[in-house]
Amino acid sequence: MFPPVKSKVNFSQLEENILRLWQDNNVFERSVEARQGAPRFVLYEGPPTANGSPGIHHVLSRVFKDIIPRYKAMKGYYTPRIAGWDTHGLPVELEVERELGFSGKAQIEEYGVDRFNARCRESVFSYLKEWEALTERIAFWIDLKHPYITMENSYIETCWWAIKQMWDRGLVYQGYKVTPHCPRCGTSLSSHEVALGYQDDTEDPSVYIKFKLVEQSRQKLNLERPAYFLAWTTTPWTLPGNTALAVAPEAEYAIVEVAQEYLILAPVLLEQAGLGDAPVVAKVEGSDLVGLRYEPLFNPSDFDIPVETMAGLGKEGQSPSGILWKQEGSFNYPVIAGDFVSMEDGTGIVHMAPAYGEVDYQAGTEQGLDFVHTVDLQGKVIGNYPFSGLFVKDADPLILDDLKLRNLLYRSETIRHTYPFCWRCEAPLLYYAKQTWYIRTTAVKESLIAGNAEINWYPEHIKYGRFGNWLENNVDWAFSRERYWGTPLPVWRCENPECGNLDCVGSVPELENKPGFAGLKEPLDLHRPFVDELTYDCAKCGAKMRRVPEVIDCWFDSGAMPVAQYHYPFDPESRTIREDGRFPADYICEALDQTRGWFYSLHAISTLLFNCPCFRNVICLGHILDAKGEKMSKAKGNVVEPWAVINEYGADALRWYFFTSSPPGNVRRFAEKSVAEVTRHFLLTLWNVYSFFVTYANIDHFTPGSEGALLEESELDRWIISELNQLIIDVDSAMENYNPTEAGRKIESFVDDLSNWYVRRSRRRFWKSENDADKLAAYTTLYQCLVTLSKLLAPFTPFLAEELYQNLVCSVFPQAPDSVHLADFPVADENKIDKQLAADIQLAMKISSLGRAARSQAGIKVRQPLAVASTTLVSKQEQSEAINQMVRDELNVKEIKAATTEELAAMATNPDYVVDNVASPSTALYTKLTPELQAEGMAREIVHRLQTMRRSAGFDIADHIDTYYQGDDYIREVMENKTLADYIKQETLSQRLVEGFPEKVDFKETYKLSGYNVLLGVKRLG
Ligand SMILES: [Zn+2]
Ligand SMILES: [Zn+2]
Repeated sequence: MFPPVKSKVNFSQLEENILRLWQDNNVFERSVEARQGAPRFVLYEGPPTANGSPGIHHVLSRVFKDIIPRYKAMKGYYTPRIAGWDTHGLPVELEVERELGFSGKAQIEEYGVDRFNARCRESVFSYLKEWEALTERIAFWIDLKHPYITMENSYIETCWWAIKQMWDRGLVYQGYKVTPHCPRCGTSLSSHEVALGYQDDTEDPSVYIKFKLVEQSRQKLNLERPAYFLAWTTTPWTLPGNTALAVAPEAEYAIVEVAQEYLILAPVLLEQAGLGDAPVVAKVEGSDLVGLRYEPLFNPSDFDIPVETMAGLGKEGQSPSGILWKQEGSFNYPVIAGDFVSMEDGTGIVHMAPAYGEVDYQAGTEQGLDFVHTVDLQGKVIGNYPFSGLFVKDADPLILDDLKLRNLLYRSETIRHTYPFCWRCEAPLLYYAKQTWYIRTTAVKESLIAGNAEINWYPEHIKYGRFGNWLENNVDWAFSRERYWGTPLPVWRCENPECGNLDCVGSVPELENKPGFAGLKEPLDLHRPFVDELTYDCAKCGAKMRRVPEVIDCWFDSGAMPVAQYHYPFDPESRTIREDGRFPADYICEALDQTRGWFYSLHAISTLLFNCPCFRNVICLGHILDAKGEKMSKAKGNVVEPWAVINEYGADALRWYFFTSSPPGNVRRFAEKSVAEVTRHFLLTLWNVYSFFVTYANIDHFTPGSEGALLEESELDRWIISELNQLIIDVDSAMENYNPTEAGRKIESFVDDLSNWYVRRSRRRFWKSENDADKLAAYTTLYQCLVTLSKLLAPFTPFLAEELYQNLVCSVFPQAPDSVHLADFPVADENKIDKQLAADIQLAMKISSLGRAARSQAGIKVRQPLAVASTTLVSKQEQSEAINQMVRDELNVKEIKAATTEELAAMATNPDYVVDNVASPSTALYTKLTPELQAEGMAREIVHRLQTMRRSAGFDIADHIDTYYQGDDYIREVMENKTLADYIKQETLSQRLVEGFPEKVDFKETYKLSGYNVLLGVKRLG
């Protein structure tokens, strides 16, 4: 006997029980250990930052991370899976700043870096329990007991080692460059962080500014009245920093007259600037403008702003001391030639502020422009302007007012465009010239590109699209952060300004063995401020070496996980990772935004260290939106709470929905009702087949394995077993190709066929009273299907698969593996695949479904037998009796006829026929009824009512009954017709059909059937 299975099921409850079973029996650990010695299959877990509750998108990535290693384990691979937690960086610091009510770095310094970092450490772990609970509940099997944690000393030490490797090859440098800078967080960001924070539809000023030509330059152009260059900008706050204008030397410029003044701009942009009607008084070449000079909008010397010159600076902005050379500026700002000047928008004359733009800075070093900083690192205007002390965006309107008063603002509007914001705090980023540490990734650009060629991307277009483009446009990695909670940059600098010696430290022992090493407090903590206390003697001059203040980008931490999770190369066991299969990973999976985040930092670090990629296969998941297609956000209140969905439908339903609803790379709209739908369509369909099997198998005392030679396989059995073996091949191959969606959909369609064709068409074989070879074959076949399904489904819906397996296998075969997740993946028996039979049945299904469509069009119930169905889908030669038999049953017709297209077309216009589709009919039903057909239809109606009554009376499926009736004469005729009466008895397990009623029946009901009245009653026997 199998443990009984109810037809009603609470999946969530069932899953909780299975979870306990797994925990009690250490099934995950054993599923890994059982394969020791086999080839490895390695997943790298992209460490989530555990500083907030996990959301539905985390469930998405975690179940996709889970499914592939589960499949590989069943295929015989050794698949240890190590969890990881990302614990450093801005995400954590900001969370703590919020808790403490801080708004910037000054408050952190005042509070104390030690106390602040202690809070960061705590904060990370406050959410960890929740993450672990969700990870377990959705059955993401990963070793949570031994995770790698990026803030541990050993992890940091490997990061130091990695940086030192790069340092020794000259790949780490400090550059004075324009870097994306978050004024709130007070730190540089890398280009990949910037890529995470673009916001469309940002409103900014769009202004045209007049720059007045100096007297001498005006005369050169033979202009008698005041003349101005017109330039356009969306960042008025950069105007006080302006020190040049750029033109395209080859282009033509127009001098137009407006209100007794002259304006100079490109003629192609006159219209856009609203000067389409202004008279053009002259045209000049851009090269004629180069070298002309104009008056500063805001002369720095009037506002207490120091001026420096960029003359003599190298390309990376490195003067010998690392800062700019101070020198008095000229204040007569020049027009320069620039190949970057666009004629697409603006005026063809570009405002240059070398401190606040990459191109501007580049031009500044090349042309020796003046350089002024008018804004500090908090984004506040310095000096003594009327708008000093304001945040740049707040200063914008005041700057424009000022220019307007002086008649230097030509036109002022607003624009909506895409602008980068801080990916963590959402402050608008400023492009800001300052010192930052860089990794020279551009030096290995070719290797980055070549390595990408070896990686399999799913979906494929990411490879040379989003990711490939990113690599093609590689810029050096700005990887230092002027922050607190992170891996400290292991660079020490000599305090003696004359010396300035720089030294990179690659390990703790290396540091401790430095001459004059001091400042160590036990226990060692490699975080600020403790690490800042560690000093040693300069090898060059003997003065004190102190660590530079920066920490590093947390994306470096996570990108270093292939080595740092093993404490490479310090731990002796770690040294073999490149030979024993632990590096590179076979598989990683994250959402699309990680192409510029973790996918990139992994690839960059691995290429820099080992000149090879560190992952072979990657599934790149599309983003998840709400049901209406909008981004989920707390502010909008449309965030889906994963626990609510899991408690309602179970984790399997959510997993199945994620795997099968759309390919992994697609953007998906999450709707809870879709999870309800997959539950109904798939999980419950399978459950009903399972519960049907167990119920009848128990009634008949079916014991698998005892069939012996008794089997008498029907065509239907051979067909479903053929389909089952084909399914194994299809699922295996889709999974091998990292395509769970296709694999899942194949399973879904098999279960549909199993339920709606095999089981439905086999019902009678299970119901009949004799336990013959045919019945046994049916049980054996269905049993085999269900057991195989449990194994195929194990990576997809691990709970339901386990339920089936425990009941169907473990309860019968004590020697079998005690969990489906310890079993091997099924292997197809290709001899059992019969392609012809599969095609035949496919055809029968198709004809039947078209015939049913015709019936429903004509409004004739399937219970009413019809004489003939004609179809063009089979020719007279191909018609097999097996197909005919099935279609006759399905369509409840007496005969199937092959017909030509012309014949069908004629039937479509004949009122005695109904066709499936008037435009191109392929199946037609003849709808005229004979008295015999009518009587048979009535008999079927009666059977249908009696079956419903049996259920209402609470009879068991196998109970025998007597049936009583009373009604119109026509009813008696049907009941007394020998053939029809036998049919009714057989279908309803009725011993007798009796006219009239005894004193007591178990259930009775009055009906009107096709206009005839009848009272029916049922009584259970013995
Ligand atoms: Zn920020
Ligand atoms: Zn020194």
